[in-house]
Amino acid sequence: MRLVLLGPPGAGKGTLANNLKDALRILHISTGDILREEMKNNTNLGKEAKQYLDKGELVPDEVVTRLIENKLSRDSIIEKGFMLDGFPRTETQAKDLDRILNKFKKPLNYVLYMESTLPVIIQRLTGRRVCRNCGALFHIINLPPKKEGVCDACSGELYQRSDDNEQTIKTRMKVYLKNTRPIIEYYQKQGKLKKLDADRDSQEVQLILMKLFNEDENFHQH
Ligand code: ADP
Ligand code: ZN
Repeated sequence: MRLVLLGPPGAGKGTLANNLKDALRILHISTGDILREEMKNNTNLGKEAKQYLDKGELVPDEVVTRLIENKLSRDSIIEKGFMLDGFPRTETQAKDLDRILNKFKKPLNYVLYMESTLPVIIQRLTGRRVCRNCGALFHIINLPPKKEGVCDACSGELYQRSDDNEQTIKTRMKVYLKNTRPIIEYYQKQGKLKKLDADRDSQEVQLILMKLFNEDENFHQH
């Protein structure tokens, strides 16, 4: 199964991907996670990406598309199936993704559009905490760790992403509305879009999605 998770920052793409990974047994690829890993390791790519991430702006299309093309071309990932989270984010990226997959005659099966409202997004992003060690996601109110500041899974230190502040969140929302939202229509025209109410809590979102899949007669072929 080849999926794209689409939606505004804070819609819960990363959380859903983590929950689905086991249910669907497919790889989760997050461009945001890859870029943050590069930043942590202080690579050239990481240094270039940091300027954009810290402002809430998009990293140039060529850079992220090359990253995704390299990633998908390894280890038969296209054949095995994957879930993209944070890519594509522009119409150019969406077209390039189709081009890459068409070369392998393995087009996308579904695009899951996670629809969420601004107050929910802001509450989620400002309260989000991430494990510095394993990347696990927490929320100070919705999903607090057992011990404040410490990861339940690996005891790593929790931190707040530098772009999870109100000012940068506003920029990310603007960028989303201008660049990313138009690709919803692009996928709607392809008949691949499945819409989810992502204001609901993460367990409910997952249940709604599994129900949608089960009702879909094509799903069982993937
Ligand atoms: P969120 O969905 O919460 O905004 P991500 O972790 O997906 O966060 O992305 C964080 C940042 O990484 C973005 O604001 C952007 O700067 C950069 N980024 C991630 N994916 C892409 C992409 N496909 N194209 C351009 N920039 C990207
Ligand atoms: Zn951890």
